[in-house]
Amino acid sequence: MSEAVSDIGLVGLAVMGQNLALNIADHGYKISVYNRTTSKMEEFVAAHPDTPGGLVGCAELKDFVASLKRPRKIIILVQAGRGTDAVIDGLVPLLEEGDIIIDGGNAYWHDTIRREKDLTSKGLRFIGSGVSGGEEGARFGPSLMPGGTPEAWEYLKPIWEAVSAKVDAKTGKPLEGAAPGKPVEGGVPCTAYIGENGAGHYVKMVHNGIEYGDMQMICEAYDLMRNLLGLSAAEMADIFKKWNTGILDSFLIEITGEVLAQNDPETGKAFVDIVLDTAGQKGTGKWTSISALDLGVPAPTVAEAVFARCLSAIKEERVAASKLIAAPTAKYEGDKGELIQAIHDALYCSKICSYAQGFQLMRSAAVEFGWKLNYGEIAQIWRGGCIIRAGFLQKITDAFAAQSDLANLLLDPYFKETVGKLEASWRKVVATAVTCGVSVPCFSSALAYFDGYRTANLPQNLLQAQRDFFGAHTYERTDKPRGEFFHIDWPDPK
Ligand code: NAP
Repeated sequence: MSEAVSDIGLVGLAVMGQNLALNIADHGYKISVYNRTTSKMEEFVAAHPDTPGGLVGCAELKDFVASLKRPRKIIILVQAGRGTDAVIDGLVPLLEEGDIIIDGGNAYWHDTIRREKDLTSKGLRFIGSGVSGGEEGARFGPSLMPGGTPEAWEYLKPIWEAVSAKVDAKTGKPLEGAAPGKPVEGGVPCTAYIGENGAGHYVKMVHNGIEYGDMQMICEAYDLMRNLLGLSAAEMADIFKKWNTGILDSFLIEITGEVLAQNDPETGKAFVDIVLDTAGQKGTGKWTSISALDLGVPAPTVAEAVFARCLSAIKEERVAASKLIAAPTAKYEGDKGELIQAIHDALYCSKICSYAQGFQLMRSAAVEFGWKLNYGEIAQIWRGGCIIRAGFLQKITDAFAAQSDLANLLLDPYFKETVGKLEASWRKVVATAVTCGVSVPCFSSALAYFDGYRTANLPQNLLQAQRDFFGAHTYERTDKPRGEFFHIDWPDPK
């Protein structure tokens, strides 16, 4: 039996597991590592003999468990779903009361709720932690969203705070410059306890849904400049680089500038022009949209971003349709610079609405699942390490700091005033896109959401009357208190 030497253990040495293990070791923690396919573990340990904390390679799960100091802390970073359950099933008989399992995979939050309940009943403790930032984040500082058994968090906290991304305390900007063996010093860690059982994975899922919206909205901005103004990828690269210095400052705008500036090594053409316009997806945007529908929360922008990927995937059908259905002949004939600025403004307003929807979704989920979520802190965790990191998140933290029970971001003074100032440009962009036949599902759905949200009288009076007509579904009256329901005897349809 091995001696208990390691501070923590990690199961799953694919790209995320290897990078997170090295990040943990860089911070001086000794970490035991195990992988189902032993050769991967052996190659990994052999390739990194000199990390500050040290890697302890284990070929057998029982030796891996025995190598950990108690209470044992074991991170699982394997294929989400069955892979995670298989690893948990293998570990449980080897663990002792109080040991802690941390699932860092992209788990469905209902699975996390189930696993936490099951493991708690066995005397173990469980954390389901969202890990965002891809392989680069895992290696040098991810955004970490842990939820689960509250006492377990106290054991994990020092390690999670050490390895997470850091932002400057004053500006909220990510601290860059981490290198192998040399993590960044100081700064505010991009992690905090999110809430009980599935809360961390739920918040990570909403983060991914918001990411779907952000990416689609950037694509719409690109499509408008390409189609209405005929700009080249290189010209747009400069525009995105400039946008990254203002209110849109974010990782996704930054990389968009870089992607657009990249040439294809084979042909020398703009790289983006040789990439086929069909997008894949792994499901977290879909989960976010399903959750919004289940909870009855209006979150159309993420859903539109998911549908936009679905529409992109039916390439052959679209190509055929493009030959049969003519596009409008209208062209944009206004000022080029004015439209570029308006697209910038439309992007920012749409982004605000998308985040407003995401935070409303988390509010409803918190009520449904009994979580106490700290929304300002969640925005803070997203400021560094993750794909949606953006200067703008500081504004959200500020909004919730000023009013912790803020019903909707659109009601916060900064966001209300900003959308008020930029709204005319946003409307102009959507109107121009519609007139010229450019598909902008997220820009337009965000605007429809905004207009619906700020409207006291929607047309659902007519809808409810229709429902009462054909199904006796009853209606409430404008001249009676809420909660009283009526039905009238409708004449038979002619
Ligand atoms: P992955 O491709 O999702 O999973 C591969 C790993 O899972 C391998 O170590 C594999 O072991 C192990 N595995 C699969 N089924 C198993 C089973 N039944 N029993 C034991 N081990 C099993 O790896 P990844 O891309 O590094 O992602 C790991 C987790 O992080 C996933 O949940 C993923 O969703 C999440 N995540 C990924 C990213 C990213 O950018 N890739 C970002 C955030 C979160 P073998 O080597 O033996 O096959």
